[in-house]
Amino acid sequence: MDSLNERYLTLVRKKENMKKLSCHCGEVEVEINLLEFEKFIRCNCSICKRKGSVMSMVKNENFKIIKGKDKLKIYQFNTKVAKHYFCSICGIYTHNNPRSNPKMTAFNIGCIDEVDTFSLKKIHIADGQNHPLDKK
Ligand SMILES: [Zn+2]
Repeated sequence: MDSLNERYLTLVRKKENMKKLSCHCGEVEVEINLLEFEKFIRCNCSICKRKGSVMSMVKNENFKIIKGKDKLKIYQFNTKVAKHYFCSICGIYTHNNPRSNPKMTAFNIGCIDEVDTFSLKKIHIADGQNHPLDKK
């Protein structure tokens, strides 16, 4: 394959890999670069239990906030390592950087229009109640 063709294909692939995440009011928009969702997660820690959202994860560099960065608020608690972001206007949880792996972004897949969160099978339950970093 010649290099021009290859470049074109890379562009096409890139476009297909983009998923758009938005909060409810639309002030916050994010582009997520991923081919397939690696896994679906729910977590039983004190905050996730309250939010009840189904999440997936990407590396931070594949999560680009394209609109409304100034509308996002951060909520932190306990060790204040994890950053939990939500839209300051509509209150919707969009994403967080988990304490166990700050290089990753966990995001609310309910914020992606094309995903029907109610049809998902095999949702992994993360045991955030017994966080690995709390063990001595
Ligand atoms: Zn919003």
